[in-house]
Amino acid sequence: MPDDERGPVAAGTGWPGDPATATTPVALTAGDVVALAGAAGGADELDACASVCRACPRLVDWREEVARVRRAAYAGERYWGRPMPSFGPPDARVLVVGLAPAAHGGNRTGRIFTGDRSGDWLFAALYRVGLAASPTSTAAGDGQRLLDARITAAVRCAPPANKPTPAERDVCRPWLVRELELLRPRLRAIVVLGGFAWQALWPALADAGFGLPPRRPAFGHGARVELPALAGAPAGPLLLGCYHPSQQNTFTGRVTAAMLEDVLGAAARHAASGGDQDASARTVQSRSSALDPTEGS
Ligand code: SF4
Repeated sequence: MPDDERGPVAAGTGWPGDPATATTPVALTAGDVVALAGAAGGADELDACASVCRACPRLVDWREEVARVRRAAYAGERYWGRPMPSFGPPDARVLVVGLAPAAHGGNRTGRIFTGDRSGDWLFAALYRVGLAASPTSTAAGDGQRLLDARITAAVRCAPPANKPTPAERDVCRPWLVRELELLRPRLRAIVVLGGFAWQALWPALADAGFGLPPRRPAFGHGARVELPALAGAPAGPLLLGCYHPSQQNTFTGRVTAAMLEDVLGAAARHAASGGDQDASARTVQSRSSALDPTEGS
């Protein structure tokens, strides 16, 4: 591969699904993230601005270094090397929230949960419950579509060891807040993958104007929280906890295909019905989760 094809993809140079152009404004500081996220008038603009963000120096260095060096198995491939845009229709009623892209998964392919084992598990489950058009997601431009679902991440850049710092999580939060604000009118269910995303989501929900319960519920697989209804709405969205389909969790059987399908299916049915008609994902608060360091995707 020629040297000029190593490293991050320049905005607007033809990568499939690249939401940005050469003139998309670039956030260089936490204040820029607040300003640009807040000003985004729609999901496309939000994705474009987020996908060129450079506000976290450690994460920018890491994602771009990974894109230059690459894993041997992908030595002939160009890496995306930029923050993850969300994936799925902007009016989706189901939102899936993960931790952060994986260095050789989303950071390589430019699509969240695409190109690694975690994504293989997630997309297969989404397909089985009717939220994805195909059971696999291998590359941007492969034809995959989400159906009434959208996937995003608490942190949009691949972090070293899949561990963003609390400060990086907080700097990235305005992108998630704006995503939630834009989805809010139709949003019916949120599936949260793993304890890190669960913790990151609550302050973002508050900043996005969602009603919250008086106490923050503990994360667990099958944890289920009905958010209070907002003025003029019959009900608030349903929040569902789900163990992350990380390699560690799937290898050890901590999460199985059936467990993923149960939670995603509950979200899909809840969104479609407009109410709680599913008993399969009742709260299982006793199975609380520690943060799994391998849970990026
Ligand atoms: S983690 Fe978020 S805020 Fe930080 S550089 Fe990446 S996109 Fe920007």
